[in-house]
Amino acid sequence: MSGVATPVVEVKAPETPAYKAKAYAAKSATSGLATFSVPRRELRPDDVQIDIQYCGVCHSDLHQVRNEWQNTLPTVYPVVPGHEIIGRVAKTGRAVKKFKAGDIVGVGCMVNSCGVCENCRAGDEQFCVNFPTLTYNAEDKILGGVTYGGYSDSIVVREAFVLRVSDKLDLAGAAPLLCAGITTYSPLRHWNVGKGQKVGIVGLGGLGHMGVKFAKAFGARVVLFSTSPKKIADAKRLGVDEVVISTNPEAMQKHLASFDFILDTVSAEHDLNAYLLLLKKDGTMTLVGAPEKPAPVAAFNLILGRHRLAGSAIGGIRETQEMLDFCAEHGITSDIELIKIQDINQAYDRLAKSDVKYRFVIDMGSLK
Ligand code: NAP
Ligand code: ZN
Repeated sequence: MSGVATPVVEVKAPETPAYKAKAYAAKSATSGLATFSVPRRELRPDDVQIDIQYCGVCHSDLHQVRNEWQNTLPTVYPVVPGHEIIGRVAKTGRAVKKFKAGDIVGVGCMVNSCGVCENCRAGDEQFCVNFPTLTYNAEDKILGGVTYGGYSDSIVVREAFVLRVSDKLDLAGAAPLLCAGITTYSPLRHWNVGKGQKVGIVGLGGLGHMGVKFAKAFGARVVLFSTSPKKIADAKRLGVDEVVISTNPEAMQKHLASFDFILDTVSAEHDLNAYLLLLKKDGTMTLVGAPEKPAPVAAFNLILGRHRLAGSAIGGIRETQEMLDFCAEHGITSDIELIKIQDINQAYDRLAKSDVKYRFVIDMGSLK
């Protein structure tokens, strides 16, 4: 078996929590986010309790708060988003071996998985055939109810889903590595992107700018496709070799049949065919962006050139640790705008307009 079950969010009556954490939640698709408190469980032997310091703002948070994935992953309200979590260990359960109080740790998009299916055993917990427990908006199989994410001051997570974060890294800039980082690192590694290859990154947002950093670190020649001419200078500073403004058909034409690999990080409806035409023979385009609506693909754009159209979801825990260690070794973090939690609704409005340089990160110290 290699498929992935469709998630079903069942809301069981929650058990009595050990404590309540402060948080920010959206009560509906149109309410915006405001203060809320969430239940957190009593530590089990293999649990780690984390005081959250920083949490990145992913476009997936925005999609889910606004229920844009209602056909695939409907939002259960109130929703507390946040899956780019950095914090310090507050307490550990008695069987925890990897962490102790005071350690700097991270939590990404998953907090649990079945652990026994073929994909979990292969270290691909993100493809757990019983569906991984996502950090928020998923059935909480331990406490009941739904899971609540990192726009909060504290969280309890199984040790196996907690990552070590080097104190060499700027911690606010490291938060986005937990989703934007691994989501771009994993497909670039899977498709062996490296020296001698021409690689396209589509969209310069949170994922896209991390894709640029990793593709450059792996030695590829990197072309950015952007709809935003005002991002050209930043793209160059980030190491991009060439920027193509994707709304200019002539500029696109110049790159026909020339790419080994293209990583598409776009969050909204756009034409995939325009990029498939740019692949070389046997080239691959991988989608990580998850727009609300399906996109048509012309068969001939795959047939001619034996092109592949693939997808990728975050990465497994082992690979996420590998990515964090790679970042510590190479000094890679995200370019961020640090915000207070009280500014989250304005940040969402800017994110919806592709206006962020290049990831918002919430300073959780502002959640008083
Ligand atoms: P983001 O920061 O908003 O970046 C998305 C970028 O897409 C924008 O900066 C913009 O780049 C481009 N874009 C936006 N609207 C566009 C349009 N109408 N046409 C063409 N380009 C457009 O978002 P993100 O946090 O990086 O997330 C990107 C997508 O990945 C989201 O859909 C998110 O849910 C998904 N995601 C998937 C995974 C996974 O595991 N597969 C993990 C995390 C996130 P330019 O201004 O340069 O054009
Ligand atoms: Zn994310």
